[in-house]
Amino acid sequence: MPFFVGVDVGGTNIKIGVVDDEGRPLSSTSIPTEVHSGPQAAIERVAQTVRELVAQVGLKPNQVARVGLGTPGTMDISRGILLSPGNLPGWWNFPIRDALAKAIGLPVTFANDARSATYGEYWVGSGRVLHSMVLFTLGTGVGGGIIIGDLLVEGENSAGSELGHIIIDYNSDARLCSCGQTGHLEAYASASSVVKRTEEQLALEPTTSLEARLAGSEELSALMIDQEAERGDEFSLQIVLETARYLGIGVVTAMHAIDPQGIVIGGAMTFGQHETATGRKFLERIKQEVRSRAFPFLADRTTIDFASLGGDAGFIGAAGLARRAHLMKK
Ligand SMILES: [Zn+2]
Repeated sequence: MPFFVGVDVGGTNIKIGVVDDEGRPLSSTSIPTEVHSGPQAAIERVAQTVRELVAQVGLKPNQVARVGLGTPGTMDISRGILLSPGNLPGWWNFPIRDALAKAIGLPVTFANDARSATYGEYWVGSGRVLHSMVLFTLGTGVGGGIIIGDLLVEGENSAGSELGHIIIDYNSDARLCSCGQTGHLEAYASASSVVKRTEEQLALEPTTSLEARLAGSEELSALMIDQEAERGDEFSLQIVLETARYLGIGVVTAMHAIDPQGIVIGGAMTFGQHETATGRKFLERIKQEVRSRAFPFLADRTTIDFASLGGDAGFIGAAGLARRAHLMKK
C-alpha cells in the first residue's frame, strides 16, 4: 500500500499497468488507441481497463492512490490538455487529464511520454543508480528526458527536455524534422531517419543483403536494417553506426548543458542492446563520438548505457510520477 496506475498513450497502442509502491508492475496490458474514435472514447476504454486490471490483481479500487498519464507530442501540463500531438489527430486541445480523472474517479498526474519513460528508468530502471540523468528515446521520433536530483525538467511551457529537437546541423541543406524545422537530432537519429537515409543510399546501388529482402514484399524498416547488420551486412551496419554518430553529437550537447551523472539510451530502436554485436557496436560508436567531442573529464566520468525497462518504461514512470505527486501531497 498504496498502489498506482500508469497509462502510456501512443499513436497505436495505450499501455496500462498497476504498479506497487516500489515500482514493480503487478499487471499490465495494451489496448489499441483507435485514434479515429476520438479521445473521450479512448478515455472510457482506459478507465474500464484500469478497473479490470485492479480487480485482476486482487486490489480494491480504494487501494489505488493515484493515476499517472503520459502522452506524446505537445501539451500544457499545468492545464492538463493536449495541444497538437502529431500522431493523435482529432485529439488536439482535449483536456485529457481531467477527463481521465473523472472517468476513473482518481486524481491524475499528467506528463509527456518521454519524460514518463525517463522517470521510470530513473526510479527502477538502468538509471536507478543515478542521481542525475538524461534519457534519449529512439523510436519513430526522438524523445528526451532530464532528471536532476529528483526534479524532472518539464520547463516553463511543458517543452523542457525536448532533446529530439536540439540542433546538430545548422547548414541550409540540413534534414527536415517532423516538427517543421531543419537540422534537429530527430531528423538524423530516429527510426524514420534511419529508413530515409537508407533509401537515399540504396539509390546509389550499394552491395547489400537488404536488396534481396526488398525484392520480396517486405517494406524497409529500422528493424530490417538492424537484422541485416547483425547478419553481417556491412552496408546496414554503417547505417546503424552513422545513427550512433549523430546521436553521440546530441549526447555531447546534453552533457555540456547539464553535466549529468549518466546518459541512458532507450526506446524501440536500440539495435538489440548488449545482447547483439550490432547493439554493442552502436553503443561503442556513441561513446567514441562523445570521447572525440566532449570535455575529456566529462567523457571519462559520464556513464552511457542502454535503458532497461523496454516498452514498460512509460507506464511504470507515469505511475512513479503519480506516486511522487501522492507523497508530496501528504
Ligand atoms: Zn524538430
